[in-house]
Amino acid sequence: MQGQCKLCDKEALLKESHFIPKFVGKWVKKTSITGYIRINDEEHKRAQDIAKEYWLCGECELLFSDWERNFANNIFYPFVKDEKSEAFYDSWMSKFCASLTWRTLTYIRSKNDRSSKSDEYNKYLDDTEKHLRKYLRGEVLNLDGYEQHVFPLDAIESTTYQDLPPNINRYFLRTMAMDIVGNDKEIFIYTKLPKFIILGIVKATNPKVFRARRIAIKSGKINPREYRWPDGFHSYIINKANEVSESYDKIPEKHKDSFDEFIKKNPGKAAKSKLFEAIQYDHEMFGDKIHR
Ligand SMILES: [Zn+2]
Repeated sequence: MQGQCKLCDKEALLKESHFIPKFVGKWVKKTSITGYIRINDEEHKRAQDIAKEYWLCGECELLFSDWERNFANNIFYPFVKDEKSEAFYDSWMSKFCASLTWRTLTYIRSKNDRSSKSDEYNKYLDDTEKHLRKYLRGEVLNLDGYEQHVFPLDAIESTTYQDLPPNINRYFLRTMAMDIVGNDKEIFIYTKLPKFIILGIVKATNPKVFRARRIAIKSGKINPREYRWPDGFHSYIINKANEVSESYDKIPEKHKDSFDEFIKKNPGKAAKSKLFEAIQYDHEMFGDKIHR
């Protein structure tokens, strides 16, 4: 389709771009329990996972794909497949994160009605979009205040929180989502991949609090250090996990009576799948509450 590229503004033949990179969705599909687990495609949150639109020209698409490949091979696959929890990265990482944040920001804004938001709020998002674009195109070398933060997520085996929903491990390990989160004081761009949350700052009152997760512009290391969420984030994540639990990949009705029976009846493929693993984590923590 001919049109104007959202990143470089040139008139060109546009590519159908995925907002959540294609390899992520492919991996989720491949590691689900096909045939045993129902996937509810109608729910719009799920449609986001595979959202694609004519967004970028071939040149810009190529720019993104290079960073994506590096993230996939050096971080994503080692973490989700081989259970690695440490990785070194180079300058592609901050570009990749900024590109994800830019995609989430432009996608969510294209679906939302700007007039329902204050001028101030819209101006913050406009400025962020502009700066990220310049950074991605190499016109500025730094992200300035628009820092990118990555939170690697692992299965939770125990917790002191009382309010965790019984699908929290499935949310951490399997879900993809995009959102703009915030209020008058703080605004973040939220991109959720299996095992990772990428937070792009639009406006933060105290970014130092979670600086431990900031992605360096040049090179750095991702590892499972202790971290703090920005204020209010704990409850945001709980709400989101609760929201998706309705439409979640579930154990089929007829097997609900006995989770153990399901395991016995479905050895092999089902037991090896990553989705099944995530359900097991939830089951260990919450027992039969996971089937609600
Ligand atoms: Zn372009």
